[in-house]
Amino acid sequence: MRKQIVSGNWKMNKTESETTQLIEELKQQDLKSSVKVFVAPTFVNLSAAVKATKDSGIHVAAQNMHQSASGAFTGEISSSMLLDIGVRHVILGHSERRAYFGETDELLKEKVQAALQAGLHVIFCFGEELEERKSETHFDVVKKQLSTALFDLDATQWQQIVLAYEPVWAIGTGETASPEQAQEMHAFIRSLIRENYDSTCADAVSILYGGSVKPANATEIFSQADVDGGLIGGASLQAEDFAAIVNGF
Ligand code: PEP
Repeated sequence: MRKQIVSGNWKMNKTESETTQLIEELKQQDLKSSVKVFVAPTFVNLSAAVKATKDSGIHVAAQNMHQSASGAFTGEISSSMLLDIGVRHVILGHSERRAYFGETDELLKEKVQAALQAGLHVIFCFGEELEERKSETHFDVVKKQLSTALFDLDATQWQQIVLAYEPVWAIGTGETASPEQAQEMHAFIRSLIRENYDSTCADAVSILYGGSVKPANATEIFSQADVDGGLIGGASLQAEDFAAIVNGF
């Protein structure tokens, strides 16, 4: 049975006290216990978030990590640093990392392998840009992103992977993929995993949708057969909205 997952991506928002406050507000919400809930604050607030979420059922993910174990990489964070403060999950491949920090599929392959080898679980983001959707190359783009970064993994490593399909044109734009567009792509993604691995692997992977999910559209998107939850940006910064999305299942 695939896990239902809703993860907030707080990006470069919230100070430490605001992080703790938002988590306290989330803890006051009645969150569906069948849904695995994540928050992903910025690096400096991860420790505070781990402490604030203790025993709450809310999990903490980092938004990025470096592919090397340690060394002269000024400004970077390693897998062991995340694990040491109690973080077990990391988001990799977010479109903002790809667009603004030059992260390529090849680099992401290294990051994914480093994270998995260290014992972290990965929420792997990918998705096409508007021009690619318009030119109807979106399936090819997604296939390349996944095959370059993930299809060298062995089937057991997929137990540590959650996928997040995020069409770039829908992130932070208010424009959402229609439930049918999301389902079509999620079914395609699952078929790719089936082709490259097997049905057991394909049927076990949770595939989240991300891109302007809000309380008003969450239920319709989550009701699609191959959509197992959401990666939520803007609407995760407000406890009631985020809770309404979690409870949209
Ligand atoms: C995101 O950044 O992963 C995201 C989905 O953002 P938003 O929900 O704001 O579109």
